[in-house]
Amino acid sequence: VQAVFRSNLSHLLELMGSGKESLIFMKKRAKRLTAQWAVAAQRLSQKLGAVQRDQKQILVHIGFLTEESGDVFSPRVLKGGPLGEMVQWADILAALYVLGHGLRITVSLKELQSNLGVPPGRGNCPLTVPLPFDLVYTDYHGLQQMKQHMGLSFKKYRCRIRVIDTFGTEPAYNHEEYATLHGYRTNWGYWNLNPKQFMTMFPHTPDNSFMGFVSEELNETEKQLVRGGKASNMAVVYGKEASIWKGKEKFLGILNKYMEIHGTVYYESQRPPEVPAFVKNHGLLPQPEFQQLLRKAKLFIGFGFPYEGPAPLEAIANGCVFLQSRFSPPHSSLNHEFFRGKPTSREVFSQHPYAENFIGKPHVWTVDYNNSDEFEAAIKAIMKTQVDPYLPYEYTCEGMLERIHAYIQHQDFCAAPGPAPPGTRAPQSPFVLAPNATHLEWAQNASVAPGAWPPAHSLRAWLAAAGRACTDACLDHGLICEPSFFPFLNSQDAFQKLQVPCDSTESEMNHLYPAFAQPGRECFLQKEPLLFSCAGSSTKYHRLCPCRDFRKGQVALCRDCL
Ligand code: UDP
Repeated sequence: VQAVFRSNLSHLLELMGSGKESLIFMKKRAKRLTAQWAVAAQRLSQKLGAVQRDQKQILVHIGFLTEESGDVFSPRVLKGGPLGEMVQWADILAALYVLGHGLRITVSLKELQSNLGVPPGRGNCPLTVPLPFDLVYTDYHGLQQMKQHMGLSFKKYRCRIRVIDTFGTEPAYNHEEYATLHGYRTNWGYWNLNPKQFMTMFPHTPDNSFMGFVSEELNETEKQLVRGGKASNMAVVYGKEASIWKGKEKFLGILNKYMEIHGTVYYESQRPPEVPAFVKNHGLLPQPEFQQLLRKAKLFIGFGFPYEGPAPLEAIANGCVFLQSRFSPPHSSLNHEFFRGKPTSREVFSQHPYAENFIGKPHVWTVDYNNSDEFEAAIKAIMKTQVDPYLPYEYTCEGMLERIHAYIQHQDFCAAPGPAPPGTRAPQSPFVLAPNATHLEWAQNASVAPGAWPPAHSLRAWLAAAGRACTDACLDHGLICEPSFFPFLNSQDAFQKLQVPCDSTESEMNHLYPAFAQPGRECFLQKEPLLFSCAGSSTKYHRLCPCRDFRKGQVALCRDCL
C-alpha cells in the first residue's frame, strides 16, 4: 500500500487517547500545529514528486509515560517539570501520521502487550509471535518492557525498533561486552543495537540518527509584527523551575540595570524565594502564551540549566537573542550529576551546544559568566543588535518530515550485514587518493554499492590529527562524519592509499579503530562492526575518519540522500 500524506490530524488526536496531563499537552500541541504540518506535507510532497512510499505499520510505545516505569513526568506537566520530551513525542507522532503511515500508540504495558499479540502473563513464552508492525518507536523504558514481554520475538524483531534517546548513546556504551570490559558503565546502554537505531533530540554524534522536533515557524506577516513589536529592553529567563535561579543574584542584578526581567517559573501560592522581587514572574504559561511572551522579548537568557531543551530554538524563532553561559571545563557524564550514567562521554561546552554551533551570532551569544565584564558587555551589545526571527530548516515541520521520510525509506537494520570483515580485501578497491593527496575519495569508475544509504560516492576520508575525534575531524573540513562508511575504510588498503606508514596491522575491538598509532607505526583495524564510532578520541591515535557532505540546514541528510 502506498502512503498518502494526511493534512487532517483529528484521527491522530483520537489515537492519542486521553487522561494524563502529558497526553493532553501533546494533543494540544499537535492540534495547534496542524496547519503548519499540512503546509509542510504539501511542500514535501511536491519536492518528492513521484517517489514511491510504502505505508508502514508503526507502533509508538512511549515507555516513560507508562505507570509501570513510574511515570514521573505526567504529574509535573503543570508544575514546571520537563516538557521537552513531550514536545518531541508529540511531533514524532504528528510527523509519522502526516507522512501517511498506519499508527498505534501505547502508554501502558497492557496496551503494549495486546498490540504485540502477547497474551498477558505469557511474557516469557518461548514462541516467537509474529510482530504485526514494520517499525516500533519507543524509549529506553519501553525497550526494557518489550524485552521482558516479547520472549524470543524480541531478538528476532529488535532490528525494527527505534529508540528515542534525548542525549544519545555512543557505540562504546552500546556494545555490551566492550562496555563491560572497558568500564563504559551506565544505567542504560548495553543493548547491542545498531547505534543508528538510537534517535536523538539534537544532532549530537552522527553515530545516532538525529530525530529532533519542530518549532513553530513565523510567516512573513508575523515576522513583520514581531519586528515592530519588540521591546528592546525586555528579557525572559530560561527555566520553569525555581531551582535554576539559585545563586544567580549577581547576574540578575547586572541584567536588571539594563532590562526588564520576566520569568515563567511555576509557583503554588507564593512567589518562589529564588526569584527576586524585581522580576516579573508570569508563572508557568501554556505553550502558546509562552510563545507570545517571546515575541515581545529582546533577550532570552539561560543560566546553565536545563541543558539542550526546545525553548532556546523557540526564542530564536520568535526573534529573541539567546544569551547563554560557556562551560569551562565542559560538562559531561564524568564530572556532572545530570549526565552521570548517561551512555555518552560527549563534552558539553555550553548550555545549548546546538544553538552555539549551528546557529551562533547574531542569534546566539555564548559567554563566560564568571567574567562579569564580559557578561555585561554582551548585554549592552545585544540591546543594540537587530535580529530577525530564525529557525533552522531541520527544525521546521517540513525539515522534520523530510528527515523521517528519508529514514523510513532508507534505514534498514534488518538486512544482513554488508561489507566483508577486515582482512578480506575487496577485489577492486573503491577509493583513490584525491589529487591534493590529503584524503581519499570514491573512485569514479568504482561500482557503487547497490542500495547503500547514504550513497557511498559522497564518502571522503581523512586521517585525523592525534587526539581528534572523527566528529570534529569531519567538521574541520565542512563535512559530517558518516559511520555507515566505516566498513569501506576498514582495510590495509585504505591506509596504504592514504600513504600511512604502517609497520604492522592488527585487527582488534576498539571504538577508536581504524586508527594509526605514531609510536611503533602501528595500524589498527576494527574487528567489531558495532563499535564503529564517530565519537571518541585518544592522543595515542590518528583516527581514520569517513566524512560526507550534508544539506544546508539538514545535517542528517547528504545531498543525494533523498
Ligand atoms: N514552555 C511552556 N511554558 C512556559 C515555559 C516553557 O509551555 O512557561 C515550553 C516551551 O514552549 C518548550 C517546552 O516548555 O517547548 C520545553 O522547554 P525547555 O527548553 O525548558 O525544556 P525542558 O527542560 O522542559 O525539557
